Amino acid sequence: MKKIGILGGGQLGRMLLQAAINYPVETYVMENDSNCPAAHLCNHFVEGDITNYQAVYDFGKQLDAITIEIEHVNEDALAQLEAEGVQVFPSAAALKIIKNKIAQKEFYQLHGIPSSEFIVTQTIADLQQHLSFLPAVHKLNAGGYDGRGVQVIKSASDIEKGFNAPAVLEKLVDIKKEIAIIVAVNSKNETAIYPAVEMIVNKDLNQLDYQLCPADIAEKTLWTAEAIALKVVKELKSPGIFAVELFVDTNNVVWVNETAPRVHNSGHHTIEGNFSSQFDMLWRVMLDYPLGSTEILFPSALINIVGEANYTGPAKFEGLEDILKIENAFVHLYGKSTTKPGRKMGHVTIISKEKQELIHQAQRVRHGLKVVS
Ligand code: ADP
Repeated sequence: MKKIGILGGGQLGRMLLQAAINYPVETYVMENDSNCPAAHLCNHFVEGDITNYQAVYDFGKQLDAITIEIEHVNEDALAQLEAEGVQVFPSAAALKIIKNKIAQKEFYQLHGIPSSEFIVTQTIADLQQHLSFLPAVHKLNAGGYDGRGVQVIKSASDIEKGFNAPAVLEKLVDIKKEIAIIVAVNSKNETAIYPAVEMIVNKDLNQLDYQLCPADIAEKTLWTAEAIALKVVKELKSPGIFAVELFVDTNNVVWVNETAPRVHNSGHHTIEGNFSSQFDMLWRVMLDYPLGSTEILFPSALINIVGEANYTGPAKFEGLEDILKIENAFVHLYGKSTTKPGRKMGHVTIISKEKQELIHQAQRVRHGLKVVS
């Protein structure tokens, strides 16, 4: 059996392991917390620091292939493993491009991929030199995640909100819709593209409110977005699974926001909503099996269950029983014992042929299920 490792043991690793059960594979996970969501689902758990060169190298050298569930891993160790014959999904080179916002934006520019205009900054003081560039969004080069590391700088008075570290300042896009497209690529360079999803963003938390699939956008805009997503993935020249996040602006122009070189939150609905889920698809890629079908079985809504503001401690799921009674709702709880504000604790997928029903049930989950302590 092929030995395949996952760097990171969060909810993405957990759902990836859930899909592994269908395949002949021996699974390994490395994470620094032996109580992480994925620890009890893998065949072999290794406690270790995924950002440490030696830890990642030692973990990987016993494996046939390795993948990631988060970008913040030691890519130099992955490059060495790759050189020694371990298959790495995504390639260390692709990860290196994506991991840092500056390299990622330069990559889009180099390949003529539409992404909003940007300037590289090193300190907050640099922002003073670029007042004519505002309104803009300041994004930390490294270490940002789930909205942390992103600040909107509308005018000179917002400059103090910026980052005193390497970052990109990119033009504010007048967003009409945020969409995401997941693309899988195998080692033969064959691709499979999932139907676009549409994000409804909570502007206060800078986090997803809920998501709908398929995205409700004009066919021509969709084709443009799909062509752009495929181009991003083609230019990254790496097998794996990629989530390309895009903006459709008020003039229907499509821009790439960012790309994740891994299974992604925007693809959770594919577990119930599509023939081959994003997790199933990644195993197919890593095991050199034919790509699965990305066709929709049912339109879906996806709601993240995140820790309520002002609660930190052992998690309690208020309203869970009512949500579990919704017949077209699939509840996923990640097994994280403690909650904190904004922490992703689970998600709910609603499936229905009726869009109004999707929105209705999504709102019901959004307001009826609260994670407190
Ligand atoms: P993260 O990876 O931390 O989630 P993103 O780069 O996706 O960060 O940004 C978070 C959110 O900020 C986006 O979903 C979008 O709503 C907003 N945003 C990011 N870049 C821009 C931009 N150039 N113009 C307008 N809004 C943006």
